[in-house]
This record gives sequence, structure tokens and C-alpha cells, in this order.
Amino acid sequence: MRESVVQVRNLVKSFGDLHVLKGVDLDLYRGENLVVLGKSGSGKSVLIKIMVGLLTQDEGSVRVLGQEVKDLDSRKLNELRLKIGFSFQASALYDSMTVRENLEFPLVRNVKNLSREEKDKLVEEVLDSVGLLQTINQMPSELSGGQRKRIGIARTLILKPEIMLYDEPTAGLDPITCMDINNLINQVNEMYKTTSIIITHDLTCAKVTGDRMAVLLDGVFGKTGQFDEVFERAEDDRVKSFYDYNF
Ligand code: ADP
Ligand code: MG
Repeated sequence: MRESVVQVRNLVKSFGDLHVLKGVDLDLYRGENLVVLGKSGSGKSVLIKIMVGLLTQDEGSVRVLGQEVKDLDSRKLNELRLKIGFSFQASALYDSMTVRENLEFPLVRNVKNLSREEKDKLVEEVLDSVGLLQTINQMPSELSGGQRKRIGIARTLILKPEIMLYDEPTAGLDPITCMDINNLINQVNEMYKTTSIIITHDLTCAKVTGDRMAVLLDGVFGKTGQFDEVFERAEDDRVKSFYDYNF
């Protein structure tokens, strides 16, 4: 039996008259990389925000690492969030801090009693794993967009999360940098043994990083499966047009 790390059942979420999620069911299994696709505004970000308790659903159940998220008090919710690395669209680096200070920040906030040496070691190890050890004393403004994205991912890795949530990790990057980030996501999954949800519009990113695709269509997921099954042999016109538009 595969272990389910996220289990979503009949999830419903509206904002006033706007019905975004209309009964979403989804399972994320340990070790897999699930890609979530869907048009802008289809509710992809809302879905993962509910998973980390930044939004609350109207109906349905979301269990993450065995716990019903909406029932957690703030202490339990914080504990859960420490096991989840989220790299959100807008999660920028702090411009007034060096790369080292940016990476240390989650450690200082969340891990007590770490010595200077232990902190340095963790920061250097994670930075090295994203290939940017040489930037440790630089300011974010001195780095390229792709490098900043990598440092952002490194920052979420420093607490060794079990689950990584990537919200449009390649948005706004040129094709070569996109490929770099795609490779980094795969490398992170291997090195850190994370389970991931990768939200993207980018079918190349989906194909390269995903074990399984889930397309959000009018508030529910269509059939999930490997890239070829879902796209190349698509029967649903909405999925076909998504594919045709991209390739
Ligand atoms: P996407 O699939 O592009 O990530 P989102 O999940 O961000 O889409 O948003 C889905 C819809 O819900 C959008 O129409 C958005 O405007 C709306 N929405 C998202 N968050 C809120 C909020 N906090 N309050 C009101 N409307 C919201
Ligand atoms: Mg979004």
C-alpha cells in the first residue's frame, strides 16, 4: 500500500458568488511528484493554501501527514507547516539581507539552541545542494532571477521538509532558466526524498518534473495519470486545448 501524505476529499471553496473548488478529491503519495495544472484563476493556489491552513474550506476534508488541517490549533498548525516547504509565487528574498542571512532566517525563527557552527553548516550544505555556495555573502540584488529562485528554494529546504509545494516555480523565467529550475526540482526530490506538488502552466515543466498530472477543470480534477495518458491521449476537449495551446 502506498502511503498517502495528503488526502483531499470533496473540498469546496467559494469566495462570495465565485465557486472556485467544487468537490475536489486528490491523493498525494509519499515520494511522488504531482503536477497540478489548470487555467489562471482555476483555484490551484487556493488548493495549496488550504493545505497549509492559510485559507479555510467551506466543506470537505484535507488531511496532511495524517492530520485534519482545519482542526489544528495554531501551535499544531505551526508544527505541521515546519514539515512543509512552500515556495510561493510571491515568496521573495529579503533584499537587505545577504544570502547567508536569508537562509538562516527560518532556522533562527524555528529551531532553538543551534550553535553558530551548526547554523553555518546547514546553510552551507543547503546552498551547496542548489549549486550556489559561491553567492553566500552576496546580496539578492546582485543575483540573476534564476539564482534568486534557487536561493528561495534553498531557503525552504533548510528545515528539511517532508513535502514541498512549488507554486509556479518557473513563472517569468526564460526557457533555459526554466530548465535549470526543473532540474533542480528533480534533484531536490532525490537528495531530500521529498514529496512534491508542483503547480505550473508550463507543460515542459510538467513533463520533466512530474510523475503524475492532475488538471483542475471547472472546480474538480479530471482523470490523473502520466503525462502521455493525460495529454497525448486526452479525450476531454478542455485538456486537449490546454495541450494544443502549449505545444
Ligand atoms: P490560480 O489557479 O491561478 O492559482 P487562485 O487559486 O489564486 O487561482 O484563485 C482562484 C480564484 O479565487 C481567483 O478568481 C481568485 O481571484 C479568487 N481568490 C483567491 N483568493 C482569494 C481571496 N483570498 N479572496 C477572494 N478571492 C480569492
Ligand atoms: Mg496561483
